Amino acid sequence: MKLLTISERLGMVNYRNQGKSQATPHIKVNTDICNSTCQHKCTTMVCPANCYTLDEMNKVHFQFEDCIECGTCMFACDQGAVKWSYPDPENGRGVNWNFG
Ligand code: SF4
Ligand code: SF4
Repeated sequence: MKLLTISERLGMVNYRNQGKSQATPHIKVNTDICNSTCQHKCTTMVCPANCYTLDEMNKVHFQFEDCIECGTCMFACDQGAVKWSYPDPENGRGVNWNFG
């Protein structure tokens, strides 16, 4: 059996309401905090799905679409910038788990 890379594995994740343009993010990040008081910007280094990125100006951007709900950023962010609420099944875009 071929071992898949992390990127290949992440590409197999599917989401509730995938492709729905009105999907509600289950994580909201206040990037004003990221780009003002946060000195370490650690979530750009620890998110396995690369949802937090830095641009050439060292500015943080966040996209929720590839999130695999690992929860790392909730614990890594010590600045109060990350807010998580589990999605409404009708409108949310959480991961589809194999076992519920
Ligand atoms: S640690 Fe928190 S405040 Fe800093 S970049 Fe990450 S999410 Fe933003
Ligand atoms: S929960 Fe995990 S995958 Fe989702 S944004 Fe946070 S660190 Fe990234």
